[in-house]
Amino acid sequence: KKRNRHPVKTYFDGILRSDRLLLSQAITLAESNLPADQKLAQELLTQVLPHTGRAIRIGITGVPGVGKSTFIEVFGKIITSLGKKLAVLAVDPSSQRTRGSIMGDKTRMETLSNDPLAYIRPSPAGNSLGGVTRNTRQALLLCEAAGYEVIIIETVGVGQSETAVHGMVDFFLLLALAGAGDELQGIKRGIMEMADAIAITKADGQNKQAAEQAAAMYKNALHLFPLSEKKWNPPVVTCSAYTQEGIRQVWEIITVYHQQMQASGYLLKNRQTQSLQWMYETIKQGLEGNFYNHPQIQAQLPVIEQEVINGQLPALTAALHLLSLFKVS
Ligand code: GDP
Repeated sequence: KKRNRHPVKTYFDGILRSDRLLLSQAITLAESNLPADQKLAQELLTQVLPHTGRAIRIGITGVPGVGKSTFIEVFGKIITSLGKKLAVLAVDPSSQRTRGSIMGDKTRMETLSNDPLAYIRPSPAGNSLGGVTRNTRQALLLCEAAGYEVIIIETVGVGQSETAVHGMVDFFLLLALAGAGDELQGIKRGIMEMADAIAITKADGQNKQAAEQAAAMYKNALHLFPLSEKKWNPPVVTCSAYTQEGIRQVWEIITVYHQQMQASGYLLKNRQTQSLQWMYETIKQGLEGNFYNHPQIQAQLPVIEQEVINGQLPALTAALHLLSLFKVS
C-alpha cells in the first residue's frame, strides 16, 4: 500500500496546530511496520514528546453490550460542552479491521464524531495485542501533542486488553451491568482491582432498582480490597446514557481524582512507571521477535520441538540449546 510520506516537520507543525488530517496521517504512519515509516514515526514522537502529557487519560472497559459506546457519546458531549478537546481511541485486538468489528464500526458515536472538538479513531489493526497496544500508545501521545485535553481509551472487556489499557491511562473506569444477581461472577477480580470507579450502566426504567442493588454489591466487594498505594477509594455509581443521569457525576469523580493525584505526585509517578514498563515490554517483544525470526532458530525449532515431545530431550536442555544457537550467530 503506497502512502504519502511527509517530512517530519510537516507532521510536527500540523500536529501542533491541531490539523486533523496530519494527525490522522501521523497516527497511520506510526502504525506502519515499514522500517522507513517507523524511523520517521519515532523521530516525530521524539520531537512531540515535550508537548505531550497534558491530557487526562481515561480508560473505559466493560463487556460487549454493557453500553460503552453509548456512554462515551453522552460522556464525551459533557466534556466537549465544557470546551475541552476530546480524543477517543480504542484497543481491540479482536477487530482486525473486519466488518462488524466492535470498535471500528463507523456508525458508533455518531453525534460525537460530528463534534468539532472530538476526534475519534477506531482501534488499530494488528495481529497481536502488543502491536495494537503500541499503536494506541503512540496515537495517545500524538493526540496530546495536538492539544487534546481528555483522551478516552476504550477497550472490550475480554482478554488481556484491559491490563494493556490500564498501563497507559491515569484513570480506569469499569462499566458493569446489573444482572440476575451474579454480577460479580462475570468480572474478574483483577479487573475490579484495577478500577478507579465502577459505573453500573442502563440504570433507567425497570432496570433502575436492579442497578442500585448491583451498585451496593460492588461497593461491598470493593470494601474487601485493601486501600491502594494512591489512597483512593473507587466510587461506585449508577448511570444511564438514555436519561443521562449519573454521567456528569462520573466526570466529576474523574476531575477530583485527577486533582488529587496531581497534588500527591501519584499521577507523575504512575506515568513514569508506565513509560518504563512500555520500554521493557518493547524490548522483550523485540528480543522475542528477533529470536523467532532468526533463520537458524526457524530451522532448528521444529526438530527440537519434536525431540521434546518424543521425550528425547529435556525441555530445559532444548531451550538452552536454542538460546545458545541464537547467541553465537
Ligand atoms: P458496547 O458494546 O459496550 O459499546 O454497548 P453499546 O453502547 O453498543 O450498547 C449496547 C446496547 O445497550 C444498545 O442496544 C444500547 O441501545 C443499549 N444501551 C446503551 N446505553 C443504555 C442505557 O443507558 N439504557 C438502556 N436502557 N440501554 C442502553
